[in-house]
Amino acid sequence: MSDTEVISMPSTLESRRHQLNPVLTEQEIKRLHRFGNVRQYARGVRILEAGHTCFGMIVTLQGTITICKYDGLGNSEFIIEHGPGEFTAEVSQLSGRPSLVNATAKDDVEVLEVSAENLRALVIAEAELGERIVRALILRRVGLLESEGGGLVLVAPPGNACLFHLRSFLSSNGYPYRILDPKDDEQARALCDYYQPGPDDWPLVVCPDGAVKKNPSHAEVGYCIGLLPVIEDKLWDVVVVGAGPAGLATSVYAGSEGLSVLALEQRAFGGQAAASARIENYLGFPTGISGGALAGRAFVQAQKFGVEVAIPAPATRLLCDSWPLRVEIDGGQVVRAKTVVLASGARYKRPGLDNIGEFEGRGIYFWASPIEAKLCKSEEVVLVGGGNSAGQAAVFLSGYASKVHMVIRGDGLKATMSTYLIDRIKATPNIELHTHTEIVALEGNDDGLARVTFRCKDTGETDSCDVCRLFLFIGADPNTAWLADCGVEVDAQGFIRTGFDAIKDQCRAKMTLADAPQRAPLETSVPGVFAIGDVRSGSTKRVAAGVGEGAAVVSQIHAFLAKLPLTTP
Ligand SMILES: Cc1cc2nc3c(=O)[nH]c(=O)nc-3n(C[C@H](O)[C@H](O)[C@H](O)COP(=O)(O)OP(=O)(O)OC[C@H]3O[C@@H](n4cnc5c(N)ncnc54)[C@H](O)[C@@H]3O)c2cc1C
Repeated sequence: MSDTEVISMPSTLESRRHQLNPVLTEQEIKRLHRFGNVRQYARGVRILEAGHTCFGMIVTLQGTITICKYDGLGNSEFIIEHGPGEFTAEVSQLSGRPSLVNATAKDDVEVLEVSAENLRALVIAEAELGERIVRALILRRVGLLESEGGGLVLVAPPGNACLFHLRSFLSSNGYPYRILDPKDDEQARALCDYYQPGPDDWPLVVCPDGAVKKNPSHAEVGYCIGLLPVIEDKLWDVVVVGAGPAGLATSVYAGSEGLSVLALEQRAFGGQAAASARIENYLGFPTGISGGALAGRAFVQAQKFGVEVAIPAPATRLLCDSWPLRVEIDGGQVVRAKTVVLASGARYKRPGLDNIGEFEGRGIYFWASPIEAKLCKSEEVVLVGGGNSAGQAAVFLSGYASKVHMVIRGDGLKATMSTYLIDRIKATPNIELHTHTEIVALEGNDDGLARVTFRCKDTGETDSCDVCRLFLFIGADPNTAWLADCGVEVDAQGFIRTGFDAIKDQCRAKMTLADAPQRAPLETSVPGVFAIGDVRSGSTKRVAAGVGEGAAVVSQIHAFLAKLPLTTP
């Protein structure tokens, strides 16, 4: 490491400087040569351009490369210099996504350029070195996220609902951005003078390559930051629908076993689990781990094994009337697959209040991550639900809010919540439990939610609470509506039936079991289509169970593929 001063190294990463910028030994560099090509760049040449250059990794062999954060408004900020033995790359490069930084030759340099494909091959072939490289890539992304450096610039007045949804989309997908309020920021004002945004044009989004978009869809943003790639038109071994814990597990195991895997995710990797501030019952994490951190690791792991993850890519139809299977994605693209894994989980239930949609993102939340918690600082909040996820969120929010009103319809938590959580709630003075109670009305103003009215089911008496944050943890419905016309059997609640359960009706019609259709335990009524995790009928609605099924389904996929006629491409 050159002894130039490292600027804007977030304090939490300071202690991990050696992991953030490991220096490779000569032996290690010798071993890397088979993965790359040597190139020279003259002094002053721009080697990487933020928002443009897609590459894998660049190892400095001679000379010095200057690395700067850069955003589409032209703001550049020095990060570090990479001398001999140091490398340039961060998480995006595992899947060859556009660079988030500019890299310039400070003097005449010689580098080893490694493509994204070879970077993945390298971190797998070189276990110990690979671990150091992947850790550095993750820490650099953390550094960019914590310092709000590079990435996207979002311009809008505070409280704009589209701004809230976009920042939530970016945060949930671990992509850096910063927000400018035109009232306070000169650059933002100049941008507004030029683009003249109307009331529906917020936020203005400035992409790293300088392109400016007016209130773009999440798919447009996904394209401009490389989260939503151009999906190759080929016959995939496995198409996974849903990148929650179950879908990510299938992606990691299938990718690591050499299958070609495309994972389609409609919103953000991690699914419901990512909404949990602290998962304490997942094996191997005695002090607990946030759902976001667990999902982030799995997302990077999947990319390390060459899985193509597309976000946002909502699957809108499954076509299984002929070979191969096909999945239609929002926007009309159709992808072909030998096998499909349905891991679309469940979506949050909403109480039957007419105006609830008005306040989603403007006071109503279905999860409690650090972002939402910070919004509750020293305020009273209302939280509805009596299950584990509600309990966790109440305890978490009580660390920020002045008071948490916990509302349940039943007479207590015993039947629905784990004991450790009930004890923790009892021990938390600023959590008040309202039993036999339900929410009956919501009121608000331009800023969003302002009052919640609840009613005691026994007496019918109502009471109102002036709060602007309401958290809903009232269960989830399966995400299977998009499967309506493809013949995949579901149970009465809409969860997907698998194994014998999926075909038992057909079997009943058969005289002998011998000629009854056979299905693998996680296979649905449609051959080659599997279902795992929360969306599966009868599954245990837990992270570990989803991950377990996500791993287990891969051997069933291999068995299915092995049965395919040899002529299959
Ligand atoms: C707040 C909260 C706290 C929790 N805490 C715990 C805990 O402490 N311990 C524990 O074990 N469990 C916990 N759970 C439950 C756990 O999160 C779920 O069991 C687990 O996430 C299920 O994983 P999954 O992958 O099957 O489904 P999900 O997590 O629901 O993921 C499904 C994914 O599919 C995507 N998707 C849906 N439809 C489509 C489509 N058509 N196209 C593309 N993508 C689609 C969704 O966006 C989502 O990302 C908690 C749940 C919540 C909500």
